[in-house]
Amino acid sequence: MEQNETRHGGISIELEHIFPIIKKWLYSEKEIFVREIVSNACDAVTKLNRLVSLGEAKDIDISDPRITVELDADAATITVTDNGIGMTADETEKYLGQIALSGALDFIQKYEGDESDGAASGIIGHFGLGFYSAFMVCDKVDVITRSYNGAPAVKWTCDDSGNYDMTDGFDGWDGYLDGRGTAVVMHINDEGREYLSESKLKEALDKYCSFMPVRIFFNNVKNEKKEEEEKPINDTAPLWQKNPADCTDEEYKEFYRKVFHDFREPLFQIHLKADYPLNFKGILYFPKITGEYESLEGQVKLFYNQVFVADNIKEVIPEYLLMLKGVLDCPELPLNVSRSYLQNSGYVSKISAHITKKVADKLNSMFTTDRENFEKVWRDIKTFVEYGCMRDRKFYERVNTSVIYEKCAGGFTTLDEYLEAAKETHENKIYYANDKAAQAKYISMLEAENIDVILLDKFIDTQFINTVEQNREGVKFCRVDAEVADVLKDDAEVEEYPKVKELFEKIAGDSVKVDFGSFKDKNTPAILNVSEETRRFDDMMKIYSPSTAPIPLESTLTLNSASPIIAKLDSKMSENPDEAEKIAREIFSLCKLTQRRLTPEEVKQFLDLSYEIIGLL
Ligand code: ADP
Ligand code: MG
Repeated sequence: MEQNETRHGGISIELEHIFPIIKKWLYSEKEIFVREIVSNACDAVTKLNRLVSLGEAKDIDISDPRITVELDADAATITVTDNGIGMTADETEKYLGQIALSGALDFIQKYEGDESDGAASGIIGHFGLGFYSAFMVCDKVDVITRSYNGAPAVKWTCDDSGNYDMTDGFDGWDGYLDGRGTAVVMHINDEGREYLSESKLKEALDKYCSFMPVRIFFNNVKNEKKEEEEKPINDTAPLWQKNPADCTDEEYKEFYRKVFHDFREPLFQIHLKADYPLNFKGILYFPKITGEYESLEGQVKLFYNQVFVADNIKEVIPEYLLMLKGVLDCPELPLNVSRSYLQNSGYVSKISAHITKKVADKLNSMFTTDRENFEKVWRDIKTFVEYGCMRDRKFYERVNTSVIYEKCAGGFTTLDEYLEAAKETHENKIYYANDKAAQAKYISMLEAENIDVILLDKFIDTQFINTVEQNREGVKFCRVDAEVADVLKDDAEVEEYPKVKELFEKIAGDSVKVDFGSFKDKNTPAILNVSEETRRFDDMMKIYSPSTAPIPLESTLTLNSASPIIAKLDSKMSENPDEAEKIAREIFSLCKLTQRRLTPEEVKQFLDLSYEIIGLL
């Protein structure tokens, strides 16, 4: 081809149809163009390095690989320049002129032997119609490029209808390039206007390019103080790429602060490094959770060869891991395919399984080698662990022996430790409280008998015990107020007081069964229990169907025949039935109070009655 000859062409046949689709539908976010154009520049540098190392390109200085992103708001342009491989006229036409003929694939097939995965070479490519994403924000794109091999420079200009002009032997290249490489000049249209603001553009660069493997410099032509103290905007060697053995704790913390802008220190982290065939790396942090609901939504950033792809991709990362914060770099991931493919991809489920195993290993090793510290962080991580167990059976199977339970009396126990201690008195039953204040009486009665009560005071705890019960045959969790534990009963014969029973039946109504028992604790005249099953069902209904009228709960009021109060009440009934009824009502209200089941009206009646009784003095 002659110097300065101008070629005309149209980008493949159906381009008119494809262009609007790209512009509208291909990418959900306009800002993706930043990722695509800058990652192409990275590829260009990586490719050149590759050629040099293979001896294919000789006498080439690759000592200062760099990319510049230049903003010129007045001219309404954003220019991305690299000093990478560049393109000849034929290559430009082939790679930019034919949609879907990925130059990356071409290159890899040629120089990477049989390996058709970009991962091994670090060439990013792969995103599909990357270059054309520029047309989401441009009405015209100029590409000025000069190949490393010294072929004449090329200027290629394409408008947003897909028609291009190409000048082979473009003289003005040195106004754009430093010897070789490519400059992509994006003429920003109305749709991309916002990216002409420095802060907006930098935000996108920060999001997608922070860890790209080639140094990127930002320049706003408006700013005078160019060049001096010039610093790249990215970190070309992010911590996750390093060998875990070479990373210090301080480095992990600093990386966390930088990436997540979280001033609180993470609790600990897991550095993931899976070799062939999974071939991915990453760091997962357990964040410090201060409020119950605060940090349930974490942030796991997915990268593809150091190019940010997206946050929290549910298709790749097990849902419960999204409560953590971290980075995952998966160069094998076929990102240009649909999400439904990802969901069903064997590769993706292997990644999930690997991560699950690593997280479980970490928890188990902390539990066995450093239980003290494990107990210290437990409150912060238990929501995660419990949720993980509920969502993923494999995870449950791996970590369930390291799950610990806080005791109301202080300290922690595992399920097995608890069951071992309970063997004699209440085999396979775990007593728990979910409200230490309201259930204090029940708790102290059990503790007086040397029975531990565990505290399950988070909403998720009560869901979690369902999972444990499903997986541990015979094991039952029982709230302290669900039944009168056998150990609380003494051996004395139970004396029934029919009149007292009748009185309480009248007060308590139909849904409450009245019974007698004889307790070791003689101070307590009566205990109200709501069966575990009905209460759990009721709790669930409240959440899933709050508008349904509450069902009366199956409850039992056990009157303590060992309590002098009950005996006195019995005689009082003949002497002064009126007063006896007041006392009985008071007792019943106190029982309901421990269940937190008084309605506002009942609270009022309870107070009135209490003062009346005090007034009897
Ligand atoms: P992909 O990166 O997946 O190959 P793109 O549409 O992003 O697809 O780019 C198409 C091709 O254009 C690239 O493969 C590459 O050959 C060429 N190309 C794009 N930008 C550059 C650049 N800055 N330097 C050299 N070649 C480039
Ligand atoms: Mg690309």
